[in-house]
Amino acid sequence: MAIDDARGLLIVFSGPSGCGKGTIMERLLAARDDTMLSVSVTTRAPRPGDVDGVQYFFRTHEQVEQMIREDALLEYAQYNGNYYGTPRAAVEEQLAAGRNVILEIEVQGALKVMSRVADYVSIFLLPPSMEELERRLRGRGTETEESVQNRLAAACEEVAQADKYQYLVRNDEVDAAVQRISTIIDAEKMRCDRSKYILEDLNYAEPH
Ligand code: ADP
Ligand code: 5GP
Repeated sequence: MAIDDARGLLIVFSGPSGCGKGTIMERLLAARDDTMLSVSVTTRAPRPGDVDGVQYFFRTHEQVEQMIREDALLEYAQYNGNYYGTPRAAVEEQLAAGRNVILEIEVQGALKVMSRVADYVSIFLLPPSMEELERRLRGRGTETEESVQNRLAAACEEVAQADKYQYLVRNDEVDAAVQRISTIIDAEKMRCDRSKYILEDLNYAEPH
């Protein structure tokens, strides 16, 4: 088996709204061409600048419910009154092609993936403080006051579940946080159970 044939990592990535997930992902993906982000379906309205098929596939409630019935979603959850879900087929295709796939999803959905999938890496991104989280969420300027309040309430519940993840990463400084996540990916790829094909490729049993 050639090294390129190795299966990609399925990476579950969560953190409270406003802690910097989108910012970190943009930098990480620009730095690593072996890693891609799964594009979710959602019923929430696009934000200014959002493009269908890039940030999300924007769909109606009926369309998402149809996907749920057809078992086309690896997981889904309701968050702030909307459905969010991960299309299963695209994830499978990319993993089989050897690419690492990141699911940037909230905690309920992440826990579902962790209970259903045998092999995954889970990372929870933390803000340096809850005060800084509120500053970032407001500073982004994308949410109504009601949505800010809902997201801050959800944040407390989400952080309370952070210890169910394998890795905790602080987003104090963007470059440092990106580097930490990249280090996790590199180390996880080198785990013996995921890299036995390297031994096979060595042909060490035959004298040279
Ligand atoms: P999320 O995707 O988790 O909701 P965003 O990536 O949209 O969060 O970040 C929320 C706001 O915080 C944005 O305005 C972003 O520029 C800012 N931000 C992200 N990371 C940092 C950081 N390390 N330091 C300061 N501001 C940050
Ligand atoms: P936002 O509306 O800010 O884009 O996303 C709200 C929350 O939904 C974020 O915590 C984000 O990680 C999460 N989310 C995005 N896509 C999915 C998905 O496919 N499944 C689940 N469970 N959560 C998602």
